[in-house]
Amino acid sequence: MAELIRVRTWAAALITLHLDASWSFAFDNAKTRAGLCNYTDKRISVSKYLAARYEDDEIHQVLLHEVAHALAGTRAGHGPRWKKVAAEIGYEGKRLHDGETASELAPWVGSCSAGHVHYRYRKPARPLACGKCSRRFDAAHLISWRERAVRRSAR
Ligand SMILES: [Zn+2]
Ligand SMILES: [Zn+2]
Repeated sequence: MAELIRVRTWAAALITLHLDASWSFAFDNAKTRAGLCNYTDKRISVSKYLAARYEDDEIHQVLLHEVAHALAGTRAGHGPRWKKVAAEIGYEGKRLHDGETASELAPWVGSCSAGHVHYRYRKPARPLACGKCSRRFDAAHLISWRERAVRRSAR
């Protein structure tokens, strides 16, 4: 899981790199979406609930997704302009924080002994335990991973 203090540090670094001092970062309390780009307040926010549950890579991608919204502008939506900007700054997924899309597009599929299914865009570099079985790392709930073929056209 990502530590909130580190998420804040990455967010500040990305804002400095890609945006300007008029933008800020905050955690929010959303439970059904990971990130938000608020154009009115010029604020990028990330759900503290989901941040605590996601892996570092995923949160980094959520931040890039939202920074791309800030760069592309409010009217770009998830259209070509946003996609181009997002790709330029290193966003890899289509919508990494969207469960359905992740389940379709992520090449790495893992499951714990209880059968909870997990998806990753990259092979996890270290052993991961199932966050649904245990909130702390517990070797009894290790996830085993396999790589699958993913429709290229969809990525
Ligand atoms: Zn978006
Ligand atoms: Zn599990």
